[in-house]
Amino acid sequence: MNDAVDISGASTDTLSMVDSANSVPSEGLSASERAPYGALYIHVPFCHKRCSYCDFATEAVPSTSSRLDTYTDLIVRSIHHASQSGDLSHIQTVYLGGGTPTYLGLRRLTSILYMLSLSMRLEPDVECSMEANPDSLTEPMVKDLWALGVNRISIGVQSFDDEVLQTLGRVHTAQQASDAIACAHTRFKNVSVDLMCGIPGQTTESFRSSVRRAIALGVTHVSVYPLTIEEGTPFDRMQQRGELAAVSDDLQAEQMVCACQELESAGFHRYEVASYARDGYECRHNCAYWTGIPYLGLGPSAVSMQQSDRRRVRLKDGVVVDSLDNRERCAEDLMLGMRMSGGVTDTMVGRAQILLPDVTHALADLQSQGLITHNGSCWCPTDRGWLCGNELYGALYNLAP
Ligand code: SF4
Repeated sequence: MNDAVDISGASTDTLSMVDSANSVPSEGLSASERAPYGALYIHVPFCHKRCSYCDFATEAVPSTSSRLDTYTDLIVRSIHHASQSGDLSHIQTVYLGGGTPTYLGLRRLTSILYMLSLSMRLEPDVECSMEANPDSLTEPMVKDLWALGVNRISIGVQSFDDEVLQTLGRVHTAQQASDAIACAHTRFKNVSVDLMCGIPGQTTESFRSSVRRAIALGVTHVSVYPLTIEEGTPFDRMQQRGELAAVSDDLQAEQMVCACQELESAGFHRYEVASYARDGYECRHNCAYWTGIPYLGLGPSAVSMQQSDRRRVRLKDGVVVDSLDNRERCAEDLMLGMRMSGGVTDTMVGRAQILLPDVTHALADLQSQGLITHNGSCWCPTDRGWLCGNELYGALYNLAP
């Protein structure tokens, strides 16, 4: 699960803000006018069981369903078509996410990866990540994925507390999560886990011990997400019936701060609002989303982003879902830059000023609120800025009303 972003990496907040602000052209940019795609996302929309909080584009199907084969065939042909169109020639990162890619099983994953290796340059300098869930990652699968060019595994652990896992409706136990990490380490150096905080019934001590267990198990990357109750999910219905206690913003903030303290004192650095890595293990694919690199999404509901020197557009299932002119794109870049610890450089601000004359005033205002700071030649988010992300990102996005 690629939780902080929508299935292709564009944040849901970003998309909804963008949607309301634009007249949308009917088709994407032509191949001759747009910059090449640098990142490839392949969406696998199947899971063993739906988790109670999930609103991703995925569904629970039996592992024997013929739809898994039909879908694999569709992806294999889509990769072939993208390759024939020249869309894979500049790809530097690949991400198989979902859903639960490992739920496809080894035979189908092998078909997809084999087709990828025939269709693009899938060498060790190309980051190739696969999301996995603890209940469907097996040792033979780990060995074959590694041999087929996957070089990064991201495991949806969420918690090492069985009671919390039960609340979330996850199908695995804490022990299975530990075993999956050990299994991944039989081949992979680059192993990431997702952890969640702000879950009803989860204490800060339970969360802290999950973070510590991930560190002790030797992972190189940790993503930490606060639970959000999304409309239409079982959690949403439970909350409406009064069956699910609300978690206060203060407790969520306390747990995010706890993650930061534990991970930084163990040698991880926070390079993005929700992402911590040991040096050299930052997720290059997610960084591509936050730094405006065009990406191609394959599979139902996967989003692609295209850009030219005139526009940035996002498409889902072949339909343009948002379209930004250069002012809006510039505001979005400032906003996305503030998700990252490196922030926004003075050079970027200087360029932005031509299109967005109020940018300097807005940055000074955010600084006076303690949401950003100026370090040498960059404007960077403060911890408070990350905790109050809506204020920070909204102020920058609104520079291009
Ligand atoms: S494993 Fe759970 S949270 Fe992840 S995509 Fe499937 S249903 Fe959603």
